[in-house]
Amino acid sequence: MTLLFDPPTVAVPIAGTADRFPVRRVYCVGRNYVDHVREMKEGDERDDPFFFQKPADAVVGDGTRVPYPPRTADLQFEGELVVAIGAEGVDVPAERAHELVLGYAAGIDLTRRDRQRECRARQISWEAGKAFDASAPCGPITPRAQAGDIAAAELRLAVNGEVRQRTPIALMIWNVAEIIAHLSADYRLAPGDLVYTGTPAGVGAVGPGDEIRVSVDGLQPLSVTIIESGSNGAH
Ligand code: MN
Repeated sequence: MTLLFDPPTVAVPIAGTADRFPVRRVYCVGRNYVDHVREMKEGDERDDPFFFQKPADAVVGDGTRVPYPPRTADLQFEGELVVAIGAEGVDVPAERAHELVLGYAAGIDLTRRDRQRECRARQISWEAGKAFDASAPCGPITPRAQAGDIAAAELRLAVNGEVRQRTPIALMIWNVAEIIAHLSADYRLAPGDLVYTGTPAGVGAVGPGDEIRVSVDGLQPLSVTIIESGSNGAH
């Protein structure tokens, strides 16, 4: 048997090494900071976490020039902490969740907000708003042992150098261990999975020429630049 073509593999660099983390699945937490739940005027902050997925090949790395996606007039950034899963797990209790964590990265859950709102209004899946090409920028992964106490870190997102989002990671409604516990009840987690853990308040629109930079204390920053749609999005 011969494969007709090589399966596309997206891989994220491990900071400070020549190793790369091949991406299997991308999970995102729908809402995880009270101030963002309030600015979006949706749901209740006490609701269980909910998850959606992006395709693995939506992941792009640091330095990527991201073409403005089609069929939107409201592309928005959501700065997020990303958890890289390095071990398999099903029904993992929160107390053991750290055993699955290979490391952490700074990420952006790029969103076609107008399409997401349309999906919400029509009570259909968020996919058109969330799961488009290059919608999951992810910075280099810092191994857990070198990342320090991620729960004590601060996340910042700046557009063209101006800080637009800033939050202690500790303000997450569901912390990393609780996210893994909930997610692994719904899905078998496996090495190669990335989990985007939700965004704080301050989300907003970007357009061609804008540079988005996300930094999390203890991790390498992520920077991407939005370029005109239809242009070549290569590095
Ligand atoms: Mn998000």
